[in-house]
Amino acid sequence: MRIGEAAARLGVATHVLRHWEDERVVIPQRTSSGHRDYAEEHLRRLHIVQSCQRVGLSLPEIRQILHRDEPERVAVIDRRVREIRRLREELDTAERFLSHVLECRHDFITRCAECSAYAEPGDEAGSHG
Ligand SMILES: [Zn+2]
Repeated sequence: MRIGEAAARLGVATHVLRHWEDERVVIPQRTSSGHRDYAEEHLRRLHIVQSCQRVGLSLPEIRQILHRDEPERVAVIDRRVREIRRLREELDTAERFLSHVLECRHDFITRCAECSAYAEPGDEAGSHG
């Protein structure tokens, strides 16, 4: 299919797909007359790119993840998996805190050990005192 149809099915502008091609993330075939020709396979890859972008992956990272011959592929994936696990822990902690606050009977949250625990710095790398 032409780039216009591919972009419409993805819900993006055509320049987005041209940019992803420039970044060598998803490279369509060309027709004999030189037009971009996206197959269903390309469309599935484009959807994967969108999903990856939604969770904050950059185009260079996505390119490395999608292409088996990228030398940094495993390192990029390992780093992202660790990042996702860290974020999940942070979100779990935030969820526990918020659920507790609903039921907390202390007049000041600083007087509640459970509430105060949420204020304690969890990662030493991110704090600057
Ligand atoms: Zn509390």
